[in-house]
Amino acid sequence: MQLRYSFRLYPNGSQRAALARAFGCARVVFNDALRAREDARAAGLPFITASELSKHLTAAKKTSERGWLTEVSSVILQQSLRDLDTAYRNFFDSLKGKRPKMGPPRFKSKRDSRQAIRFTANAGWKITPGSKLRLPKIGDLTVKWSRTLPSTPSTVTVIKDSAGRYFASFVVKTGPQEVLPTTTPQIGMDLGLGHFAVLSDGTKIDSPRFLRRAEKQLKKVQRSLSRKAKGSANRNKARLRFARAHARVADARREFHHQLSTKLIRENQAIAVEDLAVKGLARTRLAKSVHDAGWSQFVTMLEYKARRYGRTFVRIGRFEPTSQVCSACGVKDGPKPLHIRQWTCQACGTVLDRDTNAAVNVAKAAGLAVTACGAQIRPVPVPAQRDETGTHPKPHPTTVRQAGIALL
Ligand SMILES: [Zn+2]
Repeated sequence: MQLRYSFRLYPNGSQRAALARAFGCARVVFNDALRAREDARAAGLPFITASELSKHLTAAKKTSERGWLTEVSSVILQQSLRDLDTAYRNFFDSLKGKRPKMGPPRFKSKRDSRQAIRFTANAGWKITPGSKLRLPKIGDLTVKWSRTLPSTPSTVTVIKDSAGRYFASFVVKTGPQEVLPTTTPQIGMDLGLGHFAVLSDGTKIDSPRFLRRAEKQLKKVQRSLSRKAKGSANRNKARLRFARAHARVADARREFHHQLSTKLIRENQAIAVEDLAVKGLARTRLAKSVHDAGWSQFVTMLEYKARRYGRTFVRIGRFEPTSQVCSACGVKDGPKPLHIRQWTCQACGTVLDRDTNAAVNVAKAAGLAVTACGAQIRPVPVPAQRDETGTHPKPHPTTVRQAGIALL
């Protein structure tokens, strides 16, 4: 399987200039190709194939307007064309319903928060005996090797983020799995409303304090940015501060996702999650909380770690709303407003916690052998009276809205 390893890069002045040139060239090639395809579409001409685009690029390098493209490694330009193809493929797949809805490829801008170029094996990049990263037509860059690479990487992507930091991201093929000793627990997991995640055994996981603190600081910096006048020097300074705070949040979040996913994979034999089709939620109110929680990044980590350590990972398709079904007896008793955190199943009398119930349902839908027990879901001896259960109250609209804001 393939894994990604990222390391901080410290290019010197001339290397930064060479990288800026390379980012610029990759962007121009991407945009030229995108424009060619859009023009063809507007003119009712057939879709321009990847090999034709490649020929266009070769021809463009001989012209006076695009001759400077020869100043950078040709591999990164070819990779830029491949990125465009991937963007188109994803878009077409989304139109066919094979993936969450997404827009067509967009033109890249100098002001995009992330600039990247990719060198494949045949680009002639290498790690020098002195542990520098040698990039063609850029030079030998200093790398902060925070971990050891398990094997020789096949490609390296050089990234400049919005905070002005540089990273080398290596793709490494790892050897056979490192199967962990078998264990028994099997869990379902759901995106809790007030929690980062809720497990079918009743565990509720919140994001750690270091992440919450970073997020709080980010909000503060964002407010100060919005108060600065457009185009002012102060605004530019504030924007850089914001980008740095943003990068810190992203790092802290990734760290949390790594720690939690490793822990869950170690402790459980099988894990099931609901495929939230995160992008499909982009326009709903839940969207912000989903994006902030970085659920999809976390789920991706779980998936590859499960594969790597010989655990079972199941992603169930979009399931019917998990709050509508009793996880103990399977009776479906309809939707419940968000502020209903707990209810009693009218059929079997089990007291159900909203989040845990959802996690158990996810595990069951994935065919895992979960035991729903513990304090969160407990059978009560006498079924509650019908009129006392409060399963379908019609709450005042304001109440629902307030509950929604508090929870999301
Ligand atoms: Zn029930």
